Amino acid sequence: MSNFHTTGSSNGSSSNSSSFVSRRDIRANNTTGALPAINVGSAVRSYSGQFDFEAMLVSLHDLFEHDRQVASQADSARCGICYLHFSLGELHYREEGFYTCSDCERAIGKHSIPMLRQQQK
Ligand SMILES: [Zn+2]
Repeated sequence: MSNFHTTGSSNGSSSNSSSFVSRRDIRANNTTGALPAINVGSAVRSYSGQFDFEAMLVSLHDLFEHDRQVASQADSARCGICYLHFSLGELHYREEGFYTCSDCERAIGKHSIPMLRQQQK
């Protein structure tokens, strides 16, 4: 850094200093593969500060893992709204002809949801 300063301040060899700068640019361009990557990385990091993508993936993985376990059980059925598996005891069969889990049942409430394909009770 101190080297660059002395060449820049000496007006006599301006061509020398410019070639030095261009050489610096070439070297910088050679490492541009790393420079934007750092920028993107910091951008992703700041973005993930607001929304933890990795945590979402982990929670989704757990969710599907659990869903597969429940689906393998004999007395399980799918919620007609969120399509996750629940044991029949947790499901509520609506008169429209499909099951809802307790979460979806609460979300739907008294609304009537017509279904194209009805689930078997
Ligand atoms: Zn549901």
